[in-house]
Amino acid sequence: MSKKLLLKDAHIEGIRYFETYRKQGGYTAAEKALKMTPEEILEEVKTSGLRGRGGAGFPTGMKWSFLAKPEGVPRHLVVNADESEPGTFKDRYLMEYLPHLLIEGMLISSFVLGSNVSYIYIRGEYSWIPDILEEAIEEAKAAGFLGKNILGTGFDCEIYVQRGGGAYICGEETALLESLEGKRGNPRLKPPFPAVKGLWERPTVVNNVESIAAIVPIIDITGAEYAKIGVGRSTGTKLISACGNINKPGVYEIDMTITVEEFIYSDEYCGGIANGKKLKACIPGGSSVPIVPANLLLRTVNGEPRYMNYESLADGGFATGTMMGSGGFIVLDEDQCIVEHTMTLARFYHHESCGQCTPCREGTGWMHKILKKIEKGEGKMEDIDLLWDIQRKIEGNTICPLGDAAAWPVAAAIRHFRDEFEWHVKNPELSQTQNYGLANY
Ligand code: SF4
Repeated sequence: MSKKLLLKDAHIEGIRYFETYRKQGGYTAAEKALKMTPEEILEEVKTSGLRGRGGAGFPTGMKWSFLAKPEGVPRHLVVNADESEPGTFKDRYLMEYLPHLLIEGMLISSFVLGSNVSYIYIRGEYSWIPDILEEAIEEAKAAGFLGKNILGTGFDCEIYVQRGGGAYICGEETALLESLEGKRGNPRLKPPFPAVKGLWERPTVVNNVESIAAIVPIIDITGAEYAKIGVGRSTGTKLISACGNINKPGVYEIDMTITVEEFIYSDEYCGGIANGKKLKACIPGGSSVPIVPANLLLRTVNGEPRYMNYESLADGGFATGTMMGSGGFIVLDEDQCIVEHTMTLARFYHHESCGQCTPCREGTGWMHKILKKIEKGEGKMEDIDLLWDIQRKIEGNTICPLGDAAAWPVAAAIRHFRDEFEWHVKNPELSQTQNYGLANY
């Protein structure tokens, strides 16, 4: 059984409220941290090996140490709660059931970074969660854990919740900052990075909800103890939101030493494939990461078991591996059609492109059009090569990672499931009435 650090109290009734959270030991990490110096806390975070839980997996302590500290210029912590990656809903769970864990993590992080005004930027579709967060903020303030002179330390901290308008691109940190400033959420060219010029051109750290929540157990048990959980550079625990054709969709906390096979088939987690079907493929880290067929998902090319951690999932690179990404684990059974699935994703990325750069603006739409054609049985063999060519011209040629996110699913689908694309071209009539999976299994 995986060790629980973040969700250990999630089952307790009323844990959403300050009184219950406090009774379970809530805010003791904050009390401990505020007796330390910011430098000491930063060392703990670095020692813990915590990697950003939003998708990129960049070491959090290192990110914090990049924050510029010009004299007299305010600094900010911004929590990225714009969780819009298809298949990903673990931050929603944390905010809905354990809002004080996030607030406590923000208090400690704000203290380290010297942020007297911190923000939570939350996606517009999570319409019921800002009220939960604002209530938690008020409770923390009434108990003296936010506001002026917190616990007599002289440190002041206010937290504000900002609702997004529902654009996927605002999950990209610089687009988020633009939106938070009241502008259209267009990603900025980097450098300068937010650590130097972020919100209102002030030094800013943008971190994912889960990353900030993880600061609480790190302070609680120490960075060294946190680093002992997990394996290699995949330290601590990770939240995974599992969905698709499985028996038990939901949010799970894993310690990154379990195999992918165990995660899918064990009753503790996904409980196996629904309706007794066979596993066909999986996107283990949110829709932007490469899809992998069952054989490469469960084993690496060397025949080793694949594990639920950053290194093992990426083993083999983009040719045979995938990525941990945001932890949105999407399982597909044998009845699913990869072409249809890829077309749906292409439509999503085209719709969400902000339109600033040509490869993304034009390429995503073009890919969607071709995929639609192939899926309907109206494609030609050369369309598959054209699709391959377009995704290659998008990757690495755009301002922000949305371009790559749109290109990778298409590349992986063609690489691993080219036969399905060809089936649609060779069977135009069948393609109009059936999907590949149903017609072939
Ligand atoms: Fe906008 Fe796409 Fe360019 Fe990102 S890659 S800046 S979403 S056009």
